[in-house]
Amino acid sequence: MSKRPETEVIHVAEGARAGAVPLTTPIYATSTFLFASAAEMEAYQRGETNKFIYSRYTNPNVEAVEAKLAALEGAEAALVTSSGMAASSTALFGLLHAGDEVVCSSAIYGGTLHLMVEFLRRFGVEARFASLDELAHPDRVIGPKTGVLWFETPINPTLRCLDIAAVGRACRARGVTSVMDSTFASPINQQPLALGIDLVMHSATKYLNGHSDVTAGALAGSKALIDRLQPARKLFGGVLEPASAFMLARGMKTIAVRVERQNANAMQVAQWLSGDSRVAQVFYPGLESHPDHAIAKKQMRGFGGMVTFEAAGGYPAACQFYDRLQVIQRAASLGGVESLCSLPVLTSQYGFSDEQLAAAGVTPGMVRLSIGLEHVEDLIADLDQALS
Ligand code: PLP
Repeated sequence: MSKRPETEVIHVAEGARAGAVPLTTPIYATSTFLFASAAEMEAYQRGETNKFIYSRYTNPNVEAVEAKLAALEGAEAALVTSSGMAASSTALFGLLHAGDEVVCSSAIYGGTLHLMVEFLRRFGVEARFASLDELAHPDRVIGPKTGVLWFETPINPTLRCLDIAAVGRACRARGVTSVMDSTFASPINQQPLALGIDLVMHSATKYLNGHSDVTAGALAGSKALIDRLQPARKLFGGVLEPASAFMLARGMKTIAVRVERQNANAMQVAQWLSGDSRVAQVFYPGLESHPDHAIAKKQMRGFGGMVTFEAAGGYPAACQFYDRLQVIQRAASLGGVESLCSLPVLTSQYGFSDEQLAAAGVTPGMVRLSIGLEHVEDLIADLDQALS
């Protein structure tokens, strides 16, 4: 049930004509909400009213965007946070206890890996990393202490894919909470909850917002699971602030058309790169040459806007290509309307040991492209000149 308080809309619109009802949720730029009496506050504290009290707990803009996200993911409920990492930390610290173990894919976004290794372990939660081969048999990687199995697909930056339904099944059979980072696919291309995953996580900074102008995160799942995580968001303070929640809701309105164009552009870019001798290898789940094409075809509606390739001349060639780009912008992050390029060893996998890089399948010559909405011929012309 939405808690959008019509009375407060009118309050905010004081001075406007009576009865004016906005199409969009106005930005509730307020840290706190008014109460009329002690009795009203008492009723709130007893859980008898659904009024808003304080924006760190939640806010009408936060709830409006959560309702949209839940609808997109086919979830009962959702939580939005101040970044993707705030979503990950809310989920991990909210679900796990000292003595538990989290099993995580060793091919994973760098921030997630650092959070597990450098912080969770300090609180007595062991992080055990499993290779993609091991995760191909997910029932074998779950142990007696496993509380959470965390993975992402497609994986940053290799775009390897894991069988979502197989992981979900193995976790449910053993009472383990499965959490999947679906940032690279977006809810348009992939619906993990329908495939048996318990909790979906997003860096909403990426495709959900889609315009590279908001930092946000999201979790979606059953109402029971989201209710369990509410206190963690509230007490760690990772809520999204109202103006960013408004921006995220606005960005999400166009996600279906953006992602459709990004899927189409990325497929053409991947096909063009695969035919070029200056490129050693192309990683795109939509290509038949991709090792996980069959899995991707089974579980994705579109193959996404991310394309990674290995420059034939290794790291020096990757750097030269990067420096020469003219249309595609040099920047970390992804999922926006503008095409971006990053070198994973200098961004998402920076600071990984050689062993961690090998486990993640990342090489120094790798180039990661986030394909945007530009005309595909402009993108291909830019790639061609930058490779020369
Ligand atoms: N997960 C993936 C796959 C990412 O690429 C990122 C950021 O790049 C994150 C999580 C973290 O999200 P944020 O930067 O919004 O905190």
